[in-house]
Amino acid sequence: MNSEPQTSFSDRIPFEPTRSSVSERLCNACGLCCNGVMFHTVRLQPNDAAPALVALGLKLKRKRRQDWILQPCPAHHDGQCSIYAQRPERCRRFECRQLQQVETGEITEEVALEKIRDVQRRAAQLDTLSRRDDGGLRKGPLSKRCETALAEWFDATTHPELVAPREELARGLAELEAMLDEHFRVPRERSENHDAFSNHSNEN
Ligand code: SF4
Ligand code: SF4
Repeated sequence: MNSEPQTSFSDRIPFEPTRSSVSERLCNACGLCCNGVMFHTVRLQPNDAAPALVALGLKLKRKRRQDWILQPCPAHHDGQCSIYAQRPERCRRFECRQLQQVETGEITEEVALEKIRDVQRRAAQLDTLSRRDDGGLRKGPLSKRCETALAEWFDATTHPELVAPREELARGLAELEAMLDEHFRVPRERSENHDAFSNHSNEN
């Protein structure tokens, strides 16, 4: 989420130079915390101006007396945040586990990039599978679209061709979520600031 085109130092939470350049490279290649793969929503903070963010194109939802950005984020274009200078506070501060581990030297940037590409490949496969029967109409976070597809009733006797794709979708979704939990999501962020995907919907 620290991905950005026109990085202005004054816009950022102060980072050391190496940390900033690493986050720029990784985030520009990633976008998983903006594009609806990792999160359903991002909670706004007291200093965020909700009306201004709506005017910039973000979609907000109010729940539990809080405002939340809905994902996929409309400001995420071509791997970049198009409202970088005005992005919400949580976007400025969030760092996934991969980014943290690269910054502390636990893993190399190449290892993190490979992990990101792996998740992106799996997410793209699930996206295709989840849209198989919807004509491209389903919106929202990837996991929700997958759940919707899996919840749809079908008769395996009359449509045996749907059995294998559904099994593949269910298996792929479980594997993707396990990867996100193990390698990307940060528990504190998940519980306090971002609503991560879970099988029990947190947006209703
Ligand atoms: S998931 Fe991590 S690497 Fe990817 S954009 Fe978000 S913070 Fe950057
Ligand atoms: S405003 Fe949207 S695109 Fe920009 S960092 Fe936040 S979630 Fe990502």
